Amino acid sequence: MDIHQKIIKLREDLAQHNYNYYILDQPTISDYEFDQLLKELIELEKAHPEFYDENSPTQRVGGTVTKDFPTISHEYRMYSLDNSYSIEDLQDWENRIEKVLGSKTEFVCELKYDGASISILYENGKIKQAVTRGDGFQGDEITPNVRTIRSIPLKLKGDYPQRFHIRGEILMPFKEFDRINAQRRKDGLELYANPRNTASGSLKLQDSSEIAKRKLDCYLYTIVGTNLPFNSQWEMLKAAHSYGFKIPDTARLCHTLDEVLEFIDYWDTERKNLTFPIDGIVVKVNSFALQEELGYTAKSPRWAMAYKFKAEQAETELLSISYQVGRTGAITPVANLKPVNLAGTVVKRASLHNADIIEKLDVRIGDMVYVEKGGEIIPKIVEVNLDVRQPDAQKIEFITHCPECHTELIRNEGEAQHFCPNEDGCKPQIIGRMEHYVSRKAMDMASIGTETIDLMFENHLVKDAADFYDLKKEDLLPLERMAEKSAQNIIDAIELSKQIPFEKVLYAIGIRHVGETVAKKLARHFKSIENIQNASTEELTDLEDIGEKIALSIKEFFSKPKNIELVQRLKAAGVQMEMGESEQPVSNVLNGKTFLFTGALSHFTREQAQKMVEDHGGKNISAVSKNLDYLVAGEKAGSKLKKAESLGTVQILTEEEFLRMVEG
Ligand code: AMP
Ligand code: ZN
Repeated sequence: MDIHQKIIKLREDLAQHNYNYYILDQPTISDYEFDQLLKELIELEKAHPEFYDENSPTQRVGGTVTKDFPTISHEYRMYSLDNSYSIEDLQDWENRIEKVLGSKTEFVCELKYDGASISILYENGKIKQAVTRGDGFQGDEITPNVRTIRSIPLKLKGDYPQRFHIRGEILMPFKEFDRINAQRRKDGLELYANPRNTASGSLKLQDSSEIAKRKLDCYLYTIVGTNLPFNSQWEMLKAAHSYGFKIPDTARLCHTLDEVLEFIDYWDTERKNLTFPIDGIVVKVNSFALQEELGYTAKSPRWAMAYKFKAEQAETELLSISYQVGRTGAITPVANLKPVNLAGTVVKRASLHNADIIEKLDVRIGDMVYVEKGGEIIPKIVEVNLDVRQPDAQKIEFITHCPECHTELIRNEGEAQHFCPNEDGCKPQIIGRMEHYVSRKAMDMASIGTETIDLMFENHLVKDAADFYDLKKEDLLPLERMAEKSAQNIIDAIELSKQIPFEKVLYAIGIRHVGETVAKKLARHFKSIENIQNASTEELTDLEDIGEKIALSIKEFFSKPKNIELVQRLKAAGVQMEMGESEQPVSNVLNGKTFLFTGALSHFTREQAQKMVEDHGGKNISAVSKNLDYLVAGEKAGSKLKKAESLGTVQILTEEEFLRMVEG
């Protein structure tokens, strides 16, 4: 066998082993043997660059760095799905479509994988291009990153069509999510909130070898193209499977709605045993001819419906309570639970928020409690199972002194939270303020993690945000485990932070109750830190969304000389303390008005429209409610328009009317 033949044979063998492992879940060789074969191929390819193939299994490890992912228009639009939350909704849907079709029909039920959607183009059996969903019309091309995902075939098997797009969901298994977060906790980095966001964030990593290290998976569910050799969803899934794609065998062909409901019922319990996240199931009309007859709304196919599960609960024992001190001195009670499996992860802690919540739940040590998970990392306790309460269960006595610095806690009139008032001597508060300052939504200084701040604090290098700007590389080098490169990264991040816009700086300095949105509002209205400092309570509360509580907190912040000094020092260091020219709103003609865009827009994209609203002082909101002033409806507007009309309080605009309004 000559070298080229040998390389080809190794590639084929490795691709087959890959398939056995990642798609069939039935490896026929050990990981060690696999690695040996891969090593052999890597060496041969290195010695013979003339036989390079971008679809070789060696390319799975990545290495391409993409600075900006190109925007690509989808040849076929990527639609969303309509949602239903109850069995009645689904029954209504079935009635509607069967009225249109004039007969009963078959459905395919699939799991609704909770990750990031992807559309992959295959030509002549090879992966050609992979594009994110984006806004459904166009997305980002992330082909090098997608190549690294082991369950996506680089080359196809069997009798595949010459050209088609296949769509599916890239997702992160729970185990991998937990592994990454455990590592991040060790590195003192902010934890990722959930597997879905982590999957979509991973897809945008610039260095494809970084994404190769994350064990992402991909489940596929739709093929689009012309002259395709199948006539129904069910046939299509079978065909896609035969081409080598990962098509979960959980899908089911249902002949009646009762069978669909059985499927839902089954997965409502069984989803607890899945190794990856789902957020519901998807019901699709099976026949393509009937799908075509039903067509699409502006946003989604009429022939498909998602059914969303209710948040999952688990029952477990409350073992004890610990207390955490936040950067503002707020004390948060945290429940330590007997570990329990919930939505695929093991839960050991739950937030209890404050003393009032503890009282309201009447939760006691030793109680059996129900925990529920929203989108956050930390689940919450929703109820106590009083039927099994032990007679000796002890009421929880809220602590009276700070667990960190032992100062007596205070609780202000009308507030639920306890506070440690020792701002300047309580370590978690001092560290917490600096952590907040460098965090992603504030000054975004990613190279400075919690552990680094702790180390710098312990070595008396920093005690507030302004101290960062006095740091020199020589100060950092003597610190434990501080390499030259990390020290340089820290110095660079500090320098770069001087370009962060004022509204983020205002958020970063950590005035109580001034969150991201409030900071943005204040910055845009008052334009400089001096103006905010000098504003009266009335001037502050005149602004929408700024109430007495926030105004008082701002006044209190600037009443303390040490805060004024902090601001002065930051300003002197070069940190932005006023709005740059380009960040100022263009006008105030939409001041305080709320907007929502729906339907297919033809004059501008949704993002452009939303930016116009912000530029002119208005606000975008996400749903039709009585808080909505204007609904701008494009062509084929659907349920939102209907809802707005039925409310009667929302003014409905065409795109032209909106533009005229903006122009004043
Ligand atoms: P939504 O984002 O809630 O509008 O839901 C639509 C999205 O669900 C699609 O864009 C897909 O990314 C995703 N999805 C997950 N599983 C499926 C499935 N089996 N069939 C179709 N779409 C799915
Ligand atoms: Zn304290």
